[in-house]
Amino acid sequence: MTLKKQETSLLLSGRAKKYSQGAVNPIIQRTSSVIFDSVAQKREATKKRAEGTLFYGRRGTITHFALQEALTELEQGAGCALFPSGAAAITQSILAFIEQGAHILVTGSAYDPTQNFCDQILRKFSVTTTYFDPLIGKEISQLLRPETKIVFLESPGSITMEIQDLQGIVNSVRQYNPEIIIMIDNTWAAGLLLKPLTLGVDISIQSATKYINGHSDGMLGFAVANERCWVQLRENAYLLGQCVDPDTAYMTARGLRTLPVRMKQHEQSALEVARWLKQHPLVDNVYHPALASCPGHEYFQRDFSGSNGLFSFSLKKILTTEEFALFLDNFSLFKMAFSWGGFESLILGYQPNDIKAMRQYETQPTFTGTLFRIHIGLENVDDLIEDLEQGFLRIS
Ligand SMILES: *Cc1c(COP(=O)(O)O)cnc(C)c1O
Repeated sequence: MTLKKQETSLLLSGRAKKYSQGAVNPIIQRTSSVIFDSVAQKREATKKRAEGTLFYGRRGTITHFALQEALTELEQGAGCALFPSGAAAITQSILAFIEQGAHILVTGSAYDPTQNFCDQILRKFSVTTTYFDPLIGKEISQLLRPETKIVFLESPGSITMEIQDLQGIVNSVRQYNPEIIIMIDNTWAAGLLLKPLTLGVDISIQSATKYINGHSDGMLGFAVANERCWVQLRENAYLLGQCVDPDTAYMTARGLRTLPVRMKQHEQSALEVARWLKQHPLVDNVYHPALASCPGHEYFQRDFSGSNGLFSFSLKKILTTEEFALFLDNFSLFKMAFSWGGFESLILGYQPNDIKAMRQYETQPTFTGTLFRIHIGLENVDDLIEDLEQGFLRIS
């Protein structure tokens, strides 16, 4: 592993001559079949098929190998499996380690489709899911069972943004049964702001569709595993037929080069908007991990190296259907769309109890008003604040 600073190592990673063949960037290699010159070469390729040797398109080409190497370095693991989307990375990683009749613990603030997968797909295999309070910390010990196979974390949580006590959870789980696989959806941190594997998590999963791609023009997911989980993850992903096209793999690697510098700008602008929102008379609370008003803020301070452009805020009141539409339909910069992490600003609105992530826990503040999740893009921050101010005027 490199000792260079992250900005530097992300420029260098996955760019060895074997990938770039003398160019600055890795080449885009598109193929299904790999031609073997001899029986001996085919035998050798079969033996080394999981170690970055060309074997068959579904095992990846050198474009994929370059990206896998870079992402493995980013997340400081033993290996990286690529998936066609973040959702696939989550579901296939769980499938790789679950078995019939098992129990899985999932944070109640997990990305909605993760919860739907547990409720609709895992249930078919008699797998029981228990959702836990994202702020449960070491008390997770009370929920562990002999048949618990996986603990699935996400921090900060989707929409409601609670930051989890990773160390408390990891220590409790290890003490109960070291065999349990601990996974995390690390999309918010993009592997840059949090290094879960260094904190004892086994598998770090991301939607690279978000900040790593950074331009809202490609979908890709990945999972980086530590030494003990890597082979099982890799072989199961292969058996499940997971693969990615080389063009998207190339774009994802390109996004890595500018990730730290983009992230700094997202962070700076988002903090400015968050502080502006905090003092706005219509706003009840701002759920930004770097602000003390965010549940679990102390774990953010302990474990994260910075923040990004994604956070939520709640209003004091519940908007009527008309106000809700008036507010959201008329922004000039904040567009309504799923996803985030691109250069552009986005907004989504939720009424209390709209979504599972607003399931209420003892430790969670009660949401009394309408909640908005915003992504602060790379526009000038004054323009963004002006756009929001106009929105508030529409509902005042
Ligand atoms: C978007 C997202 C995903 C899913 O990623 P896709 O690439 O859209 O499939 C998973 N987890 C989190 C936290 C996300 O925000």
